Amino acid sequence: MITIKNPRQFDKMATAGRCVAAVHEAVVEAADVGVQLQDLDELAGQVISDHGCRPSFLGYQGFPAHTCMSPNEVVVHGIPGPYRLAEGDLLSIDAGAIYKGYHADAALTIPIGEVDEESARLMEVTRQALWSGIDQTRPGNRVGDIGYAVEMGAEPYGYGVVIDYVGHGIGREMHESPQVPNYGPPGKGPRLRTGMAICVEPMFNLGTAETLTKPDGWTVVTADGKKSAHFEHTVALTEDGPVVLTVSDLLTARPSG
Ligand code: MG
Repeated sequence: MITIKNPRQFDKMATAGRCVAAVHEAVVEAADVGVQLQDLDELAGQVISDHGCRPSFLGYQGFPAHTCMSPNEVVVHGIPGPYRLAEGDLLSIDAGAIYKGYHADAALTIPIGEVDEESARLMEVTRQALWSGIDQTRPGNRVGDIGYAVEMGAEPYGYGVVIDYVGHGIGREMHESPQVPNYGPPGKGPRLRTGMAICVEPMFNLGTAETLTKPDGWTVVTADGKKSAHFEHTVALTEDGPVVLTVSDLLTARPSG
């Protein structure tokens, strides 16, 4: 559970984090109407190897791709295949990289072409909720403080807050304890300490929170077929305070205002 004991470990995770941010930048640049998800995944794999990293997802419990690509009603764990992006799609891109044994993991959701107003709002609110959760990711707080902050972001909009999938500790493994749910009560759950690294990852749905898994065993969709958004960062609790390792200045910096 405690993953960062010294600056060298931190540097390795930070390198993995920069790789993940670069993957997002490349994939977002290439994602457009008519582009196939499998081609975006191939690009992601190239960026990961260019950074001297390995993909965290490829082969994880048999997962067949470098990234998860989750369009529209797909909540998480979509397998990038022949699907061609269409005008008005939402696309969630989840990527993980390993550098010298240390993982980083992040996700974002982007619009393809022009999206409708309610989809745009879903993305923006989910992104804001990620940063509300990150603001609670500091030593002395509890995991429930993160979940509560995230959940409160969804509440005014009546979004379904996914409970079947949660954030997690990260380090030598992609998924370590503690689990980090996107709901709270505040003040409950494991206490956060310096040396931990945590993935905060809200998943909000336009409709029901309920999810189903497709027969491929991976693709998780909303039970009502309505759209979903997913944002994630890896946060390291260092001696100098929390550091978000997977930020891309172009894409995933803290929203202003
Ligand atoms: Mg994750």
